[in-house]
Amino acid sequence: MKITNVEPIHLRVPNVEAIPDGTLDVLVVRIHTDAGITGIGEVTSQSYVCKACFEAPRSAARRHGLTSILLDENPLDVERLWHKMYYQTNRYGRRGAAIHAISGADIALWDIKGKAEGKPIYDLLGGAHRQTVRAYASVLFGDTPDDTAQLARDFVQLELSAVKFGWGPFGKDAQVDLAHVRAAREVLGYQRDLYVDAGHAWQWETALQRAEMLAPLKIGWLEEPLSQDDRRGYGELCKRSPVPIAAGEGDVTHWDFEDLIERGVHIVQPDVAFCGGLTVCRQVSQMTEALGRRAVPHCFSTGINLAASLHWMASVPNGDLVEYCLRPSPLMRKLVRNLPPLIDGRVPVPTGPGLGIELDEEILNQYRVKY
Ligand code: MG
Repeated sequence: MKITNVEPIHLRVPNVEAIPDGTLDVLVVRIHTDAGITGIGEVTSQSYVCKACFEAPRSAARRHGLTSILLDENPLDVERLWHKMYYQTNRYGRRGAAIHAISGADIALWDIKGKAEGKPIYDLLGGAHRQTVRAYASVLFGDTPDDTAQLARDFVQLELSAVKFGWGPFGKDAQVDLAHVRAAREVLGYQRDLYVDAGHAWQWETALQRAEMLAPLKIGWLEEPLSQDDRRGYGELCKRSPVPIAAGEGDVTHWDFEDLIERGVHIVQPDVAFCGGLTVCRQVSQMTEALGRRAVPHCFSTGINLAASLHWMASVPNGDLVEYCLRPSPLMRKLVRNLPPLIDGRVPVPTGPGLGIELDEEILNQYRVKY
C-alpha cells in the first residue's frame, strides 16, 4: 500500500474568541492511499502554521514539509514513519508546531492500519481492557463560589462521576480559592471525583501551601499549578505535595513526558492531537504503567481527538478516565457523525475498524477555511 495524497483541512467557526477553547479552530488531516483506504487525524494547535508544516516543499536535509515526507510511503509502517517525520523535520521541529502537525498524520496512519486489518485501533495497541471509559468534564470556575456551585449542580444533572474546575478567578487569593473548591465539593459530595486546574498560577512554594489547604477536600489532582517550563519547581512540589499533581497538556514527545515523570508528576496528560499522536501516547502509557503513575488524556477539541483518546485509554490497564468536552461548537458536536456519546457518566469506545468514526462532509465543507 502507498500514500497517494495528504490533505490538511483547516476548519474554523466564524467567530474565534480568544478563550482557552480547542473546539473553534482545528486542522483535520486526511491521508489517502492507493488501496482506496483513507485515514483521518486531527491537530489541535495553530492551524495556519501546522497546515504549512504539511505543505512546505522539500528543502535541504531535515527541513522538509510533512506531505513530501509521507508521499509514496507504506502507511502501515506507522512507527517507522513517526521517526521519519520527526527526523526529517528536526531543523525546525523537534518540539512545537511540527510535532503538533505530526500528531494529525500519526492518528490518520493508525486509522489506515486499523481499516486495512479490519480492527479497531485499541486492538492494534494490544487489546481492550474496557468497552466504555469513565468521563470527566471540565469547566472554568464561576465568577463567585455560588456560580461554581451552580456549575457543579449542572454536572450532577449530567450524571458525571468526575468533574474538573479550573482557571477563571482561581489562584489569586487563598481564601477565595478555598471557597470555590468547597462550594463545588459541597454540591458534588465525596462519591464524585473533583479535580482542580490551577492554570499556571503559582511558584512551587505557594502551590504547596494551596495543595495542603485543599487536601482535606480530597481533590483527585491539582493540575498545572506551575508554569509548564518550571520543571525544577515540579520536582520540588511533587516530593512534598499531599495531593497528586497533574501536568503535561502542553508537552510533546515521549522525552518531555519522561522528564515530567522523573520530576515526580503523578498524572501526565498528553493530548493525542498535539503531543505527537497515538505513537507517543502509547510510549507514555508504557512508561506510566512501568513506574506506577497514570496517564489521563487532555481532550478538548473534536470527536476525532475523543475517538483516538478512547482507543488509547481502552488499551491501558489503569486507563479508565477520559476528558469529555461539552462545548457547543459544531466542530465538537457535529464534525464526527457518530460522535461517542456520554451515557451514565461513561463513553463507549468505537468498535469499527481504525478510529471507527465517520466525518460529516457537510460540516467539513461548511467550516472549511478557503485559502
Ligand atoms: Mg488544564
